[in-house]
Amino acid sequence: MSSLSQRDLSVLWHPCTQMKEHEIYPLLPMVKGDGVYLIDDQGNRYIDAISSWWVNLFGHGRVEIKRAVQQQAEELEHVIFSGCSNIPAIELAEKLVAITPKGLDRVFYADCGSAAVEVSLKMSFQYWKNIGRPEKQKFIALSNGYHGETVGALSVGDVALYKETYGPMLFDTIMAPSPDCFYREQGESWYDYSLRQFEKMRSLVEKHHHETAAIILEPLIQCAGNMRMYHPVYLTKLRDLCDEFNVHLIFDEIAVGFGRTGTLFACEQANVVPDFMCVSKGITGGFLPLAAVLTRESIYEAFYDDYSSLKGFLHSHSYTGNALACAAGVATLNIFEQEPILENNKKLINKLSEVAEQFVDHPFVGDVRQTGTVLAIEMMKDKKTKEAFDWRERRGIRVYQHALTQGALLRPLANVVYMMPPYVITEEEIELLARVAWDGINKAVKD
Ligand SMILES: *Cc1c(COP(=O)(O)O)cnc(C)c1O
Repeated sequence: MSSLSQRDLSVLWHPCTQMKEHEIYPLLPMVKGDGVYLIDDQGNRYIDAISSWWVNLFGHGRVEIKRAVQQQAEELEHVIFSGCSNIPAIELAEKLVAITPKGLDRVFYADCGSAAVEVSLKMSFQYWKNIGRPEKQKFIALSNGYHGETVGALSVGDVALYKETYGPMLFDTIMAPSPDCFYREQGESWYDYSLRQFEKMRSLVEKHHHETAAIILEPLIQCAGNMRMYHPVYLTKLRDLCDEFNVHLIFDEIAVGFGRTGTLFACEQANVVPDFMCVSKGITGGFLPLAAVLTRESIYEAFYDDYSSLKGFLHSHSYTGNALACAAGVATLNIFEQEPILENNKKLINKLSEVAEQFVDHPFVGDVRQTGTVLAIEMMKDKKTKEAFDWRERRGIRVYQHALTQGALLRPLANVVYMMPPYVITEEEIELLARVAWDGINKAVKD
């Protein structure tokens, strides 16, 4: 074991990790990033196939972002964001308002995705209280959804692995069956299945709208829920439903925003505008933690009153509007302005579709799905009956182990091998990842 690993394991506690696993699986201390590559303390290079937990857009060490952070650090690193402001925070908010769908005109910053989700839930809740509908207190969310790990975000999430242990700490949420098309009938289209699932949402909303503040969901891809996907028609229908019954719609675009689904934001594919949109992850190109909640001017106005009305949104994080993070955000959005990123990504998307094909007929691959730049390959014990491998067998981690020996950081979610690479990845590198995934899956499904 390298000395960095030893030092790490004697003092650190890592996220989403059973630390005992590191008795078997080595920890990888990374010392350098170079475009799509990560380089560990032994000098090994790995393709970052999952964009370092979905945050990296343009590769590691992207020079414009690096420079922007450096320059901002020379001027002002951070200042309290109550009563004070800073230039990058203003610039970034202007840009966010400009690039997000029309109608999202107010920006509230938070420092991670989970915090942004908490902000959106609290804002919706308080909005109804402020306008005299205090009985609208509940939230509707999707089964298999994920919105982060803080207590409020977990309450509206539904990934058992992260949620079950903390059940007693959480507030009750109304769960609607997911439009996740994995469960569609043979021959049924994504469109038809998503519509069919929508009817169940409709019944829930008809029944609960009086007491419901908002519906929260991840548009198009339930990322942490094993990269499950659905058709945009669900979102189009849902927008109408929310309007009909006077319920807020919160889109958690934390993972899918900034081009992952092919459009800048996933909601564009449904041609709808949510009442709240949470963004984070890619917002700084993967450099610094930052999140934002965008909302409508009309919602902002319901909080705008004399101090003594107590209608203000009195929520804060110490690092709200951090100038360094916002500078990284501005530099990231400048790249989107200066380069035809979405246009260029079409090649990446096509290449992913091309390498996806070979997996379709694999005897232990039950589903191959893609939305934009996200490709997921789900290993199954029985392809026909869609019987899953026992989770205890840890098949996914075998793929991960194999990939590391081949110079790729390909970290499956349970039995779902997926690629969600930085946009700068080359076609050759995607082909390499596909070969690694293929061999890794073959190893993983044995015995
Ligand atoms: C990652 C993620 C979050 C949580 O963001 P953190 O920055 O990890 O707190 C919330 N929602 C979705 C959809 C995510 O993928």
